[in-house]
Amino acid sequence: MKQKHDIVMLVLSSPSGAGKTTISKKIQQKYPNFKISVSHTTRKPRPNEVDGVDYHFVDKKKFKDLVNDNQFYEFAEIFGNYYGTSKKSIKDLQEKNYNILFDIDWQGTQQLAKFKDLDLLKVFILPPNKNELENRLSLRNQDKEEVVKQRLKHYSDDILHWHDYDYVVINDNLENCFKQIEKIIEDNTSFSLNDFLK
Ligand code: ADP
Ligand code: 5GP
Repeated sequence: MKQKHDIVMLVLSSPSGAGKTTISKKIQQKYPNFKISVSHTTRKPRPNEVDGVDYHFVDKKKFKDLVNDNQFYEFAEIFGNYYGTSKKSIKDLQEKNYNILFDIDWQGTQQLAKFKDLDLLKVFILPPNKNELENRLSLRNQDKEEVVKQRLKHYSDDILHWHDYDYVVINDNLENCFKQIEKIIEDNTSFSLNDFLK
């Protein structure tokens, strides 16, 4: 039996559109001691996204400089853009004793897992099926049609990586999925989530 986490670093990965951003925001809203790690990306902001909140939006040159300066725990090229977790943003959250939520892909998870000082709990989220994923990506209405197609094309490869994770959860009904993730946190931490309700 793995030792329970006093402070948890919860990694949520999934094929694009399965719901990890929705779920991580919901955790952060309900439990103020959980904070999302804000990644850097070279992707352009979507209409509803805010710099510094959803991502730190940077150009390729800035991203490369940060890579060369060894500022990232991990980074990956995904759908033609770069995404990375900066050491500084994690350190800031750790100093305030927050539980940290990571919304990153399987490549980033593999890299983070090599840092043995990061105490990860890794959850892979699946959509109920590929058609529903396509619906969600289209209904999200934030990406152009070709971007949606490109993301769907990665579905089969993405799901192969479920075995790198501690748990796999299907996000069919959002409330059920959320409850399962709350239970995973409860089962693996020395604290009770109820103590941290907003
Ligand atoms: P990801 O971060 O994994 O790419 P999002 O959280 O952005 O996915 O979710 C994609 C879309 O699906 C969003 O419009 C979101 O509101 C919707 N969504 C998330 N979970 C569910 C669910 N269980 N049922 C229906 N729609 C969902
Ligand atoms: P999106 O463009 O939809 O916001 O994100 C695309 C993919 O990039 C998602 O799978 C998301 O989890 C992943 N991602 C976001 N930030 C990071 C990061 O810092 N590192 C890695 N490796 N993946 C990330």
